[in-house]
Amino acid sequence: MKCPFCRGKNDRVVDTRASDDGFVVRRRRLCLSCLKKFTTYERIEVTNVRVIKRDGTRVPFDRAKLRQGIERACWKRPISEGQISALLAELETRMESEAETEVRTE
Ligand SMILES: [Zn+2]
Repeated sequence: MKCPFCRGKNDRVVDTRASDDGFVVRRRRLCLSCLKKFTTYERIEVTNVRVIKRDGTRVPFDRAKLRQGIERACWKRPISEGQISALLAELETRMESEAETEVRTE
């Protein structure tokens, strides 16, 4: 990663932290040329995935919608935030790694 201050190409990751929902990893980097620190964010890319709804229509994958749907389904059940986040992360990783471009809502 190029340093935004001096354009140097050598940096060292000094801290790595995942966001609360586990979808974003934030890395603090130290530029080894000018010794300034900067931050990068890493997230899963699922841009090409389309969702096939029950009526057969296709819509682009929407992380927030998927989360809402799962939260609705888990309402008043003994399922924690953490479990929902883990499921979402697993689904996204699977879609990405299997290069599936269409997923059924079921
Ligand atoms: Zn630098």
